[in-house]
Amino acid sequence: MYNVQSLVKGSWLDPDISARPFYDASTGERIGRVGHEKLPFKEMLEFGRENGGRSLREMGFHERAKLIKAVAVYLEQNKNELYDISYHTGATKSDSMTDIDGGITTMLVFASKGRREMPDGKIYVDGSVEGLSRDGTFKGIHIATPLLGVAVQINAFNFPVWGMLEKLAPSWLAGVPVIVKPASQTAYLTEAVVKLIDQSGIVPKGAIQMIGGDVGDLFDHLTAQDVVSFTGSEATANKIRSNPNILKNSIRFVSEQDSLNGTILGSDITHEDQDFGVFIKEVLRELTVKAGQKCTAIRRIFVPFKMVAPVIAALDLKLSKTIIGDPRNEDTRMGPLVSTTQYDDVLEKVNILAQEAEVVIGKIPEIALTKTAFFNPLVFHCKDPDHSEYVHSVEAFGPVATIMGYKDLEHVARLLNKGGGSLVASVFTNSGEFAHEISYQCGPWHGRLYFNNLKSSKSATGHGAPLPHMIHGGPGRAGGGEELGGIRGVMQYMQRTAVQGHPSLLTAISGSYISGAERSISPSHPFKRVFEELKISEMITTKKRKVTLEDIELFANFTGDLFYAHMDEIAAKANPFFPGRVAHGYLLIAFAAGLFVEPNPGPVLANTGLDNLIFLKPVSPEDEIYATLTVMKKTRRTNEYGEVRWLVEISNQSDERVAQYELLTMCSYGTK
Ligand code: NAP
Repeated sequence: MYNVQSLVKGSWLDPDISARPFYDASTGERIGRVGHEKLPFKEMLEFGRENGGRSLREMGFHERAKLIKAVAVYLEQNKNELYDISYHTGATKSDSMTDIDGGITTMLVFASKGRREMPDGKIYVDGSVEGLSRDGTFKGIHIATPLLGVAVQINAFNFPVWGMLEKLAPSWLAGVPVIVKPASQTAYLTEAVVKLIDQSGIVPKGAIQMIGGDVGDLFDHLTAQDVVSFTGSEATANKIRSNPNILKNSIRFVSEQDSLNGTILGSDITHEDQDFGVFIKEVLRELTVKAGQKCTAIRRIFVPFKMVAPVIAALDLKLSKTIIGDPRNEDTRMGPLVSTTQYDDVLEKVNILAQEAEVVIGKIPEIALTKTAFFNPLVFHCKDPDHSEYVHSVEAFGPVATIMGYKDLEHVARLLNKGGGSLVASVFTNSGEFAHEISYQCGPWHGRLYFNNLKSSKSATGHGAPLPHMIHGGPGRAGGGEELGGIRGVMQYMQRTAVQGHPSLLTAISGSYISGAERSISPSHPFKRVFEELKISEMITTKKRKVTLEDIELFANFTGDLFYAHMDEIAAKANPFFPGRVAHGYLLIAFAAGLFVEPNPGPVLANTGLDNLIFLKPVSPEDEIYATLTVMKKTRRTNEYGEVRWLVEISNQSDERVAQYELLTMCSYGTK
């Protein structure tokens, strides 16, 4: 028996007398209970803010990224016990992999992105520097800092592991503690994951708490520093977003709701093409994975009129071979719905759909079952999608979809958008023109557009799979929320603030040199100084070097770059950019390296790249150039070395800047 406990202020509390029972999806056996009359929600929030929040904010982004990675690794090592529990939810082994392994991978991606894309500090700079004055003494940046509250994360029943971990990772990376509220039907699996996290001892107390049961008066105690991130149905979302305290205090409310996702078979593909097989496979997968209980599952299938019959025939054939049954059985491709409550809900919805569409594959069950939750796949065909409403608005959250014919691109774009906002729409085509037009006409109504065809099919990640790198969410009935999308998802838990001031102050705030800030002369050649010794804004200026015509010709002949601007005085003069023959930009970069590089072995291990190169002014033969090298930013990378970003400015004899770029080097710690 699973007696789902709640993690409250660092202690696990048993469910109380008010707890409700729940059942195994395949056997109907009672397997546990969940619920509390009332938890001390106000104190839980305070505990989270005071303990978890404070501890997380003491760390920088990289430390938190390491913590997330450590938790993911711990879960990976202990995941087998989660699989056993997951079978009770009706999930097959492969469904559980999407949920459990998908959740762990999402954490790992956030950990890695946090290390690579966020600073080795506590303040994140969003976007580039804005010049706000002519003389460069007053500039602006946008910074993001962690909210001082708690993220209340309310999740749907269908992904008890992924649904929690995909929100946990960005909020922890931001530095914000979490109170998780899983859906009661599958809370026992989420509880098992939270227990593992708690046991691991990796995360500070209060960084995670869990509510097993209802949220009581929790929302009444939220402040403007808290966030509510919700995943579930439209009806619940509307209830929460209209809470008076949430409205009054403009509390952030991110909503991921249901959606009538569509797929389009492009007019360029017929059933004789191999791409057709790719399309059928994807539709089949969306119908059967998690028994269709995915917010991103395909509910509407749009195909050219002439393809309606071949698509029905192909799906019928495939579905007839799909093994439905006990999820514990290895051959099973589709298990039951999560519960009989869900079964009743799907049955009610398919009866509504039947008013506008006829069943072409499967059969609507006549009575509600009472014990187990198996629901066979059902495919409808709607002959008049232009004048139908339910097929575009009623979500049967199970293995159910409707096929609709379309005339041309304009027609299918209009039908796809009739869903009133979706999480994802997929298109199977080889036509760039079709893809462009669909993107333009349908983009505003969809959170993600997924294009696939034979060429991409081996690597394509799946219509229904939200990825940590890409945003997940959608407009209108999909909730209007947006999560994941890499660092964009972290921003949900941070406040963006515009900061204006002198570049020296902005440099101190951001931890990155901003042009115009005061600089100090390096006490010795910076390439001789180890990572820790280098200070932001320290610089050297090199000696000068004359650029001769011989240099230019030598470089041209050596590299083969004989572009006329370097080789032909008359042709170069005729070009509006050049006064006559000029030096190659790449020659200037090579000369600059020759001017600032320290040749002997030292802390600088390698040059790994060059960003934001611009050539500002041509350099003519006999001009003299020199370079300034400024430490711009430092980021620890491994246990042995970190990345140093240098600003390299190349100037001429009149101190006019002719070129500028950011040089990336790896620099060792501690030893010279
Ligand atoms: P739901 O009934 O709306 O429940 C979602 C969550 O809200 C559950 O944790 C539920 O807890 C909680 N809840 C219910 N009433 C609440 C209230 N008054 N205050 C605070 N929390 C409340 O949805 P579901 O049946 O679990 O999930 C299925 C739906 O979710 C489908 O429509 C699906 O499309 C959608 N979904 C969307 C996404 C997405 O990313 N957009 C992902 C997955 C699912 P209890 O279980 O304890 O009631």
